[in-house]
Amino acid sequence: MIVIQEPAELQSEIKRRRFAAARMGRELSVGLVPTMGYLHEGHASLLRKARANDVVVLSIFVNPIQFGPNEDFERYPRDAQRDLALAEQEGVDIVFMPEVKHMYPQRAKTKVQVSDLTSGLCGASRPGHFDGVTTVVSKLFHIVVPDFAYFGMKDAQQVAVLSQMVRDLNMNVTLVPCPIVREQDGLALSSRNVYLSDEQREQALVLSASLKEARQRIDEGGITTAADLKAFLTDRILSKPLAEIDYVDVLTFPGLEALPENAKIQEIEGDIIAALAVKFGSTRLIDNMLLQKKGVAIYA
Ligand code: AMP
Repeated sequence: MIVIQEPAELQSEIKRRRFAAARMGRELSVGLVPTMGYLHEGHASLLRKARANDVVVLSIFVNPIQFGPNEDFERYPRDAQRDLALAEQEGVDIVFMPEVKHMYPQRAKTKVQVSDLTSGLCGASRPGHFDGVTTVVSKLFHIVVPDFAYFGMKDAQQVAVLSQMVRDLNMNVTLVPCPIVREQDGLALSSRNVYLSDEQREQALVLSASLKEARQRIDEGGITTAADLKAFLTDRILSKPLAEIDYVDVLTFPGLEALPENAKIQEIEGDIIAALAVKFGSTRLIDNMLLQKKGVAIYA
């Protein structure tokens, strides 16, 4: 495994490997897993999927431009040594670990912006967040030129936004959405879970528990409309005194369009998503459940 900090150096390394393979009459497939580090089993699951490629590139970069001024950029958890050990264990070939000065050597005058899909959910509570994401992911795509890039459905809106960007800009990469990895007790893995006190963590289980219960009720016919689903999730979450709801929403996926209040879940064409963002103290957690039109979650 090699570790690279400079974008230009990574570009040359990938080019070198592609030429070497071409000389042997082979085409190389390159898989990219973009992360902000402090790796956990969710990231590891993406790396395992990426192993289907000849070369696995893991990027670790806490991207300042996707954080708002009052967000946790400075205190975001970092542990380079532990991340490198995990990367090695997961068979990563190249770790791209730039510093801010490598990715943004001067004030950039270009950004990549996806409209509409970024206006609701996390886009509404984190203005500018998705511009930061689409810009850095575009940069990573230009640096690595991956054939496949792996993203977790934990950040379902990010998957929808990036898919749109790839289509709109004819980017020659296939995005692979991967299922949410959870703790035994249901909590979706997140680097930010370390911020939670024991009491907050206990109450945070309401996110996954309410989604799971909602799915059962949909299957049994107790919840029939998007409005019922939203109300059920809201009530369940508010039963926890430490929970402060940022949003509870039920939308089409991946179009992220609002559903008519009384739309029957079972009759809606295409997938729908129930998405949650809830704060416990200063820690904001997200979770979601994708429902196919028969009410069966495929990325639970
Ligand atoms: P992050 O380091 O939080 O920016 O996440 C990097 C990638 O890992 C993103 O594509 C996330 O969606 C994905 N990811 C984070 N947590 C999970 C999880 N619990 N299950 C699956 N994928 C995840």
